[in-house]
Amino acid sequence: MDKVIICINCPVGCRMNVKLAEDGSFLSVSGNTCPRGARYAEQECTAPLRMVTAVIPVSGAAVPLSVKTSVPVPRESIGGIMKQLSLLSVRAPVSQGAVIVSNILGTGADIIATRNV
Ligand code: SF4
Repeated sequence: MDKVIICINCPVGCRMNVKLAEDGSFLSVSGNTCPRGARYAEQECTAPLRMVTAVIPVSGAAVPLSVKTSVPVPRESIGGIMKQLSLLSVRAPVSQGAVIVSNILGTGADIIATRNV
C-alpha cells in the first residue's frame, strides 16, 4: 500500500511516498531530503503523535486558561485527554509554564499553562 504525506518538520515541506505492508507496517519512504523526514514518515504512518491544546475555566478570572501538552501524545489518546480536561478547573493565579496535570492518562505528557492568569 502506498501513501503520500508531507513532512512538516521544516518549511521545505518535502512530499514523501511511503510504502506500507498489508498489515500496515512501515516498509520504506522516498522523497525526503533528510533523515528527519524518514523518521516523521514512519512515526506518522505507524503511531501518529499530536500536540493537544485546550482551554480550561479559572475560578477568580474572567478568561479561561489556555493549556497544551508538554510533548506530542498518541493521536488515539486525544479524546480521553480532552474529556479529562473538560472536568478540570483551576484557581487563579496560575503562572505560565505551571504543570496543571502531570503525566496525563499515562502518556508521559504534562498539561502546561501557556500564559499567566
Ligand atoms: S524531509 Fe527534511 S528537508 Fe524535507 S521537510 Fe522534512 S525536515 Fe525538511
